[in-house]
Amino acid sequence: MDCIFCKIVAGEIPSFKVYEDERIVAFLDIRPVNPGHTLIVPKTHSKNIFDIVAEDWTAIADVARILAIAIEKAVSADGINIAMNNRPDAGQLVEHAHVHLIPRKKGDGLKLWPQHPYPEGEAEKTAEKIRSAL
Ligand code: 5GP
Ligand code: ZN
Repeated sequence: MDCIFCKIVAGEIPSFKVYEDERIVAFLDIRPVNPGHTLIVPKTHSKNIFDIVAEDWTAIADVARILAIAIEKAVSADGINIAMNNRPDAGQLVEHAHVHLIPRKKGDGLKLWPQHPYPEGEAEKTAEKIRSAL
């Protein structure tokens, strides 16, 4: 399979690794929002949140907490965003599941998503659809 993150996991493509265990590798994003921007990936290929096995997802969540603390300290960040893009229409460019840890600096200019209030009655219907889909 021609997957850039599988190649990084295998050491076939260089990266600046910051963490590794039996399930997980974390390395610096090549084009960071801010220095210290890190990607956490499972060693076993999965595409996104929809096919990752629960054990890999749990391992990513554990490592995200540990790395967030280390990264914030290491780069003297003012905060940190934890984000995951799933599918191309949600901004996913590399189709190997990964979670971004993005250290933030006060006034760094990164804009998050625009938000809008629900029209009357829509929140109730949407919540019911989600509960039914579980
Ligand atoms: P996505 O949009 O898929 O969530 O983000 C993919 C991320 O992978 C981007 O932030 C991009 O800079 C990073 N990236 C793409 N190719 C490479 C690479 O070869 N090495 C590293 N370290 N990061 C990469
Ligand atoms: Zn892969």
